[in-house]
Amino acid sequence: MSRAFESNLLARFLRYVAIDTMSDESVVATKSPSTEGQWELLHLLAKELTEMGIEDVTTAPQGVVIARLPSNTTRDVPTVAFMAHVDTADDVPGNGVKARVIESYDGKDIPLNGDVTLSVADNPALGEYIGDTLIVTDGTTLLGSDDKAGVAEIMSALQYLIDNPQIEHGEVEVIFTTDEETGAGMDHFPYDKIRCQYCYTIDGGGRHVIESECFNAATVKVRFEGISYHLGMARGRLVNALTMAAFFVNALPQAESPEATDERYGYYCAQNISGTATAVDLTIYLRDFDLDVLNRRIEAIKRLAVATEALYNGGTVSVDAKHVYYNMALIAENKPFAMEHLKEAGRELGFELREELIRGGTDGARMANERNIPCPNIFTGGYNIHSIYEWAALGAMADAARLIVKIVEVGGR
Ligand SMILES: [Zn+2]
Repeated sequence: MSRAFESNLLARFLRYVAIDTMSDESVVATKSPSTEGQWELLHLLAKELTEMGIEDVTTAPQGVVIARLPSNTTRDVPTVAFMAHVDTADDVPGNGVKARVIESYDGKDIPLNGDVTLSVADNPALGEYIGDTLIVTDGTTLLGSDDKAGVAEIMSALQYLIDNPQIEHGEVEVIFTTDEETGAGMDHFPYDKIRCQYCYTIDGGGRHVIESECFNAATVKVRFEGISYHLGMARGRLVNALTMAAFFVNALPQAESPEATDERYGYYCAQNISGTATAVDLTIYLRDFDLDVLNRRIEAIKRLAVATEALYNGGTVSVDAKHVYYNMALIAENKPFAMEHLKEAGRELGFELREELIRGGTDGARMANERNIPCPNIFTGGYNIHSIYEWAALGAMADAARLIVKIVEVGGR
């Protein structure tokens, strides 16, 4: 792939980040997608896909664009999909992005504006990109590489496949979603409109990092009911729900909290509490990569409820546990070809792909769980996402686009 390929990729990325697509969690319950800017980018993408010569382009009312490049091989190979989200986070301002391109990066600190500097000391990864082209912010907003780098990489890869019909491939599906950052993106996903048997989200971070595992997650609602009594005559009679709840939260293992764990260790996390002496509602998040361990934590919560009732005679503790999402590795085990194609593509390109764990969930995990479609996550070449210090490296972005093309090629054999 040539310099022209990289400069087209860069132009695409700059075009997309200039559109305000920050999503808004406060309105997702009533509005999908949550903000108009997301539509603006979706419509632009649909137009560009059509201009590329793709005939099969669908803009679903749920706020999803789906397009398919037909197979050009006589072999019967499964449809592969690539997915990215058009919205950006609202942790820092995400609208009014004024991206700045730094060509031939010299390896020094990068002043973003008079007050804010992107320093090499805080960002050792900058050192990997001396001589490369970087894209940075003006220090007042995020950049939007999460996930417009992913969007641009998919679009550029698709253009490359169209321009190089000698590459034999099966059907290629691209999916652009909205409201990923609000967590609502897959709530109304039009599964009836997709055809892929395996999918990749292009929604990761630094160069050559891939992810095929995320947490299993459960949300546990615990309700404490005490016995209220006139406080003047409460001796031996009152059972205070707040006291019960305080005991309960303190009894959660501190060594298995998010602040005490990393890598493959899961946790208990008291997330929300509200109530009075009469009744208290507590929400606990449970996470683990191992589903059996997650289920053991649910059982532990139930045992703790029984123990609490025994200590506070007359009080009741009820537990309602629900699985929220599952480790997508469970699906990948049944359909290992998604990871095999990804790793083979990396090998053929000479990339040293590094597998990391996602201590959270992804839209791909939702797709994996809800439709049994394996959905590993691939790097975008963006760093410091959700921050005014966000930056992206064009070389890494181009690597992601190359990897997409190569996965398509491997899948077409
Ligand atoms: Zn993302």
